Amino acid sequence: MSIVCPHCSATNESTAQFCTSCGKALPTQTTTGPRVVSDKEFASSKTGQTLQLAEMKKQVKTAFSILLTIAILQAIGGGLLLILGLLAPGSAQQAGAPTGAFELVFVGVFVLILCAIFTTLAFWARKSPLPAAITGLALYATLVIAGIVVSGGQVRGLVIPIIICIALSRAIAAGVKHRALKQHMAV
Ligand SMILES: [Zn+2]
Repeated sequence: MSIVCPHCSATNESTAQFCTSCGKALPTQTTTGPRVVSDKEFASSKTGQTLQLAEMKKQVKTAFSILLTIAILQAIGGGLLLILGLLAPGSAQQAGAPTGAFELVFVGVFVLILCAIFTTLAFWARKSPLPAAITGLALYATLVIAGIVVSGGQVRGLVIPIIICIALSRAIAAGVKHRALKQHMAV
């Protein structure tokens, strides 16, 4: 394979960018394989834009699903803590009730409030996935850090919080991708 220079007719190797004889730019070879499109390139055709729209919806769905899954887990966890607290012997009836039961109710209610917030964020994500996901991670990370501080630097039992933070980071990544697609669509 070789390229004939359109300027001086010299023969060059197919990989050459510039002519070895006259130094001018050589035409780019047409490749036989599929064209590799980078993240920064966007579709201009109708079909391509339809695909981009589908991709945007996919990113919205990812962010929405992650936030809603967290809300569901909080509903289950908060509900269980609340029930356990309320069912604990002597929790509601007596003044000198064990403090453990009160704590369970308190934490249960707190987690249920978080569940309501994350449900709201999930539905916000359907319109604006990026700010919703960022708000979710900022709120959650703040609470985890506050929890560590309150418990006197205790960092055990952080597996679930770390998994949730990773999931929220994925939601943010989906939001970033969504915004990049949307910005181009608007042009
Ligand atoms: Zn040439």
